[in-house]
Amino acid sequence: MTYQYWHQDIETMPRPELEALQLTRLRDMIAYSLRTSFYAPRLHAAGIKGPEDLKTLDDLKRIPFTTKDDLRAGFPYGFLSIPKEEVIRLHASSGTTGIPTTIYFNREDLHHWTSYVARCIYGTGCNHTDVFQNMITYGLFTGGLGFHAGGEEVGMLVIPSGSGNTTRQFRLMQDFGTTVVHATPSFLLHVESIMRAEGVKRDSLKLKRAFAGAEPYSEDTRRRIEGLLHIDVYNSYGLSEMNGPGVAFECQCKDGLHLWEDGYIAEIINPDTLEPVRDGETGELVLTILCREATPILRYRTRDLTGFYTEPCACGRTHRRIRRITGRSDDMLIINGVNVFPSQVEEVIMAMKEVGNNYLIEIEKDGVLDRLTVKTEVGPATFMDDSRLLNALKERIRKTLQASITINPRVELHESGSLPVSEGKAKRVYDKRPKDV
Ligand code: ADP
Ligand code: ZN
Repeated sequence: MTYQYWHQDIETMPRPELEALQLTRLRDMIAYSLRTSFYAPRLHAAGIKGPEDLKTLDDLKRIPFTTKDDLRAGFPYGFLSIPKEEVIRLHASSGTTGIPTTIYFNREDLHHWTSYVARCIYGTGCNHTDVFQNMITYGLFTGGLGFHAGGEEVGMLVIPSGSGNTTRQFRLMQDFGTTVVHATPSFLLHVESIMRAEGVKRDSLKLKRAFAGAEPYSEDTRRRIEGLLHIDVYNSYGLSEMNGPGVAFECQCKDGLHLWEDGYIAEIINPDTLEPVRDGETGELVLTILCREATPILRYRTRDLTGFYTEPCACGRTHRRIRRITGRSDDMLIINGVNVFPSQVEEVIMAMKEVGNNYLIEIEKDGVLDRLTVKTEVGPATFMDDSRLLNALKERIRKTLQASITINPRVELHESGSLPVSEGKAKRVYDKRPKDV
């Protein structure tokens, strides 16, 4: 395979050079951080009075972690490091887990962000001849404008369709010959269900690729989307605190996400001991941004769980790869004392062909015990009136789930397309247990 690089010199830069670049940029970020009301006292307390106090990359460890709560406490301007008049854009996180946090950009910062997204897009084999439909929420959420700018930078024709309105999405795809889309994996699955229901022929579309991210999904879900839509799906990872999309992305090898180390310093820690994990082990990703003057963020605890690959990638890029993110450390559910990650449920369900494209998890109190119900849609080939077949399927899902999560769930089957779909990130877990118990 021939691989294409957007910034070949940087993407394949030998590691010693890459690390030297990181140190130069980190020092710049320290200079900007010292101008913020949040970091100035923290850095002084750590004995860092200026950029020159960071002699090696290892000195980063002298700086305490920054958490989402810190960012919220610093709202609105605690992390702003340049005069407000020089800011040209702000974005905020989706607020999946509480009050959103705000990030500011100057012109140069936006330019950097755009170039990282362009690098990701181009690295999957796209170029200026592609037609790119950005089927994700625009607005404060970074996925819309971030991918929009990156697509334009590559020179593709960008259709700012936004998310939702599936019928209109098909029309746009057909009218303009869309070759690549960006969406959440749950929305892609929904698009496929509607496509089937509305009788849209695959041949009427020119679709070749999709970028799927903003929420966790399993390898089985990727394969399912690829198989149903006959496209290549690339995993896209980012978070608003680190600009948004463009932090880590799969190359054409589709085996791990290259994390752009000229833009971010990545550490993976044990979330309990806060010590670094051994290379290859799973832990919480901690990120330091290197190219954002308006809002520097140092050692940010993402709560996202992943691990580094230890082998280099066949594509020749030297930036390390992280594994598919299985979820956040705070996604973990404790059901009757057993730890369960929603991703474990997804893995079981999406690997079963008879199961449809959507599912959700409900937990309720039943006396003193917790009761887990997994609701899934059935595939289009399964008829809802064949009760023997349905009962057998239910039983098979129940048993497979129990073997994986050790809890005996109730399983409900629903008609294809009948479970709720959200336009942004999928809401899969409904924890209905009283909060104080
Ligand atoms: P919020 O934290 O409110 O959801 P963001 O929009 O910044 O706001 O979302 C970033 C988060 O989305 C990441 O920290 C991660 O948990 C999740 N995420 C983004 N991309 C992926 C992906 N490809 N795989 C798994 N999770 C992802
Ligand atoms: Zn690669």
